[in-house]
Amino acid sequence: MSRLMTPFAIIALSGAGCAAPQRDARPDVVLVIGCTVRWDQTSLAEGGPAGTTPGLEQIAADGVSFDQLIVQAPWTRPSIASLLTGASPEAVGIADPGEGRSDRSLPASALLLSERLREAGYTTLSLSANPNAGPLFGFDQGFDHTQVFAPPWREGVVKTAGEEVVRAALSALEAAPADRPALLQVVLVDTHLPDTSSAAERALFPAESERVSGYRAMLHTLDQQVGALYRGASREGRGRVFAFIGDHGEGLRSPEHHGNGHGRHLYPSAVQVPWVMAGEGIPAGVKVPEVAAGLDLVPTLLSLLDLPGQGLEGVSQVARLRGAPPATDREVYTATWFQDTERAALYAGGWYCTRDFRAATPAGCFDLPGDRDGVNMVQDLARQERLGRAHAAHPAPLWGEEVEVGEAAEGQLRALGYVE
Ligand SMILES: [Zn+2]
Repeated sequence: MSRLMTPFAIIALSGAGCAAPQRDARPDVVLVIGCTVRWDQTSLAEGGPAGTTPGLEQIAADGVSFDQLIVQAPWTRPSIASLLTGASPEAVGIADPGEGRSDRSLPASALLLSERLREAGYTTLSLSANPNAGPLFGFDQGFDHTQVFAPPWREGVVKTAGEEVVRAALSALEAAPADRPALLQVVLVDTHLPDTSSAAERALFPAESERVSGYRAMLHTLDQQVGALYRGASREGRGRVFAFIGDHGEGLRSPEHHGNGHGRHLYPSAVQVPWVMAGEGIPAGVKVPEVAAGLDLVPTLLSLLDLPGQGLEGVSQVARLRGAPPATDREVYTATWFQDTERAALYAGGWYCTRDFRAATPAGCFDLPGDRDGVNMVQDLARQERLGRAHAAHPAPLWGEEVEVGEAAEGQLRALGYVE
């Protein structure tokens, strides 16, 4: 499905009665969101599997890598809502305590990066291989061009290969007006279940289980497409800011108690994802090791573009990239209301705590970086209380609108594991 929201026919006129078009020289923004990208399975991670993500390594070498980035929800819709608004899913109104399913859509009141950039004169292009980040759930707000890749519903075909999405994305950017900057936003799902890797691909990434091997093979496929965008999505004579970020991780039963998919847990396997950026205004070879939030994406991009950012919960990382010292007291909150869960976690320098608020058990706290898996619980009342206070500060969600998803989309969502 593809629809053009408005024609590419807006001509900027210069002032003082002169009718000659004036070229807007600001950089393009290419934002790639990888669905289901677990940090410690990338080759960016210290001790991570070699060779899974050479494309991300290249971007990090040319720019910056955030090595402890925590997203605000462990599944697509609330996490991407938060990434694109700079506000928590609870504040946006998309966090969902649904009975076994989650059909809330992004409210019209949400202010997306696309809306901010279109207001600032950008042409805005959206291509998504995940229906959770498409028009069905309100994610077309602020886009001139929206394209969703939902493969014809047939047995075993539930996701579109990144190669097809990237080809369309490069064409869309090519077709955008040359006299104005563009936002190209692409969502890829190559690493999402079902496992579409071949035996030959899995053999390149041996691991403790077939599931992990398959995941690494799919991650490598995704990375190749990110690399293709990184090399291809730039226009002659125009600068560019390129960003890749994950929306959440994956349990992979590695270890077993993290589960197989995503949505219910808040261990690092579920909420720590890569964020790499390179391009105009971004120095090369910077590593940010301290905890940062998915909420920081929008303020950082706006700050790189010298655009104002009101109503944002995150912080711009631009000063940090340019040499400012790290904040030492940052605490990052994340939560999930996925299919009857109510779980929250707090990440800080050197530790994290996670708690099931529907169970009588207290929060489990663990040391970082040593106990990412969460096996040696540390009794720390002060940390448990900080998580309790953070949870109270993110009150019961302001529910977004429930949408009718329709049979075809429901089949796809079910196959992706979003409907029980
Ligand atoms: Zn996702």
